[in-house]
Amino acid sequence: MNEYDSNTILSELVAGGHQVVDSSSDADLILLNTCAVRGKPVEKVVTLLGELRKEKRAGRNLAVGLMGCLAQLDEGQEIAKKFEVDILIGPGAITDILPAIEALEAGNPAFASLDFKEDLATHITPAPNSLTGFLTIMRGCNHHCTYCIVPTTRGPEVSRPLESIMLEAEAMQAAGVQEIYLLGQNVNSYGLGVPGLPSFAELLRLVAQTGIPRVKFTTSHPMNFSSDIIDAIAETDNICKYIHLPVQSGSDRVLRRMAREYKRGRYLEIVREIKEKIPDVVLSTDIIVGFPGESEEDFEQTLTLYEEVQYDAAYMFMYSARPGTPSYKHFDDLPRELKSERLQRLIERQKHWSHVKNQRWLGRDLRVLVKEIASSGDYAVGHSDQNHTVLVPKNQLESLGLYDVTIETATPHTLYGVVKGYRSEAIPLLMAQ
Ligand code: SF4
Repeated sequence: MNEYDSNTILSELVAGGHQVVDSSSDADLILLNTCAVRGKPVEKVVTLLGELRKEKRAGRNLAVGLMGCLAQLDEGQEIAKKFEVDILIGPGAITDILPAIEALEAGNPAFASLDFKEDLATHITPAPNSLTGFLTIMRGCNHHCTYCIVPTTRGPEVSRPLESIMLEAEAMQAAGVQEIYLLGQNVNSYGLGVPGLPSFAELLRLVAQTGIPRVKFTTSHPMNFSSDIIDAIAETDNICKYIHLPVQSGSDRVLRRMAREYKRGRYLEIVREIKEKIPDVVLSTDIIVGFPGESEEDFEQTLTLYEEVQYDAAYMFMYSARPGTPSYKHFDDLPRELKSERLQRLIERQKHWSHVKNQRWLGRDLRVLVKEIASSGDYAVGHSDQNHTVLVPKNQLESLGLYDVTIETATPHTLYGVVKGYRSEAIPLLMAQ
């Protein structure tokens, strides 16, 4: 979502007559659009703000803005004060960037806007100049997972009007975007309880009807991952057969402490229905290892869930206590060594399953959106419809875009293949070196 928000901020700046420079050393204004979900990105922001403050104190004429989730938190506001940030804008007020710059230019120091602006839902962000288009369909979250700061930083759920979403999707299609990523903290809550809005399943079908070659979405909550969504994916060719369904833990006891609102059994039922209706589906998940109170037995339940689901990929994290969350306030953190040891065990299992699952594509053709030249070696990098990272020899390509690729080698993290045919329907891009 931050990438979509960054694109919105960028388009506002360009519309306001500002110029985007290639190097931060040439900039008069540097904006940091931040994430606050884990501690690590926050540490990086603090380091960067420290460096920028040093440059300002040394005489550089520079304004600095802190935007996004961190800006919304007390923690971020203290950081902003400490590092003499000039602009502070929360994720619900990103379209205030031009008034913020005007205020600075008028000599008013320290502009701050932390509202959740209603007009953000109808704001139309121009199509990006790229093969992938991110499209936010909803903002905020009505769940209250005890480890998560998002409901505080992004507020309650707001579904965007259908017309705004469709206008953006059609503009992306016209601009040559080859895949649209529908985004939201909890996309499958789209339209819930809002008269006149379609369900998420209906929205998926409508966006697919624009004719965009592929439609993906993230993130889903198992709580309302209903059969109609699975049917829409199964029945619509250009909705990718890739589902990211965060489980977070395999233990009911831990899921309850996390307030995830589903049990292991219900999650496994959804997975079974997905596998029955969508042959060859690729599944990935998010896991938090070492949540407060997680016993060895709880962790083993996560391991057995792994054996049952057999994920193609997983994003695995050690629990990181975030100030302001209920779990930070009420639960004691587990020792880091214990969390780290469990994480390593889980990574090993995931490596095994990723390897096994990737082997099934050997000798088969996948449709791959080749998006860039690899930073090293003689390869170009793309992603399959099922979200695998796929490398192909760059000398087999004349342009970036969609290709049919025969898979020849499969490692746990990457598939290697040869190009069979060009599939792009859009204007080919010039190959960037
Ligand atoms: S569903 Fe839970 S983890 Fe996801 S954004 Fe909402 S509160 Fe956070």
